[in-house]
Amino acid sequence: MVKFALLLSLELQKLTKFCAKSNKIWHLKYTCTHCGEKTKNFVTINPEDQIKVPKSRGIANYHSRCKFCKRDLTIIVLEPTEDKPVYIYEEHHEEFTKIAVFECRGLELTDFDPKGDFVAISTENGNSFDIDFSDGDFCDFDEDSKALVSVANLKYKFDTVK
Ligand SMILES: [Zn+2]
Repeated sequence: MVKFALLLSLELQKLTKFCAKSNKIWHLKYTCTHCGEKTKNFVTINPEDQIKVPKSRGIANYHSRCKFCKRDLTIIVLEPTEDKPVYIYEEHHEEFTKIAVFECRGLELTDFDPKGDFVAISTENGNSFDIDFSDGDFCDFDEDSKALVSVANLKYKFDTVK
């Protein structure tokens, strides 16, 4: 088992407490650590899925078998959970900050598609905004404070964690 943290660098305008929803569907690509086979398409990981892993007593949020070497590949979303949200509070221009942690067996995470299921709150009045990067940067107008809120320049990387 290897734990991978997903780190984001982004610019928040008039927003704070940026986080992924605890039931966020994650879109990831990976490489099989045994044979090096890469996924061509993004796979979806639903933290609410409880999948029994064959030939083990384990439960995972994602299970597949490598097309080439037939090894079992699993992913569990460790963070965020409902009890343990992971927030990014401020503008982090170049600094990468943890937004999620995945426990992986047999694979190494390589790519992340940020579409869907993030939230943040206005620094002006605490209004909550649903954030989706399907169309690139997020931008909205906060009617109450007459301020533009945005999340821009999103970059990501994965780091292994102990
Ligand atoms: Zn393989």
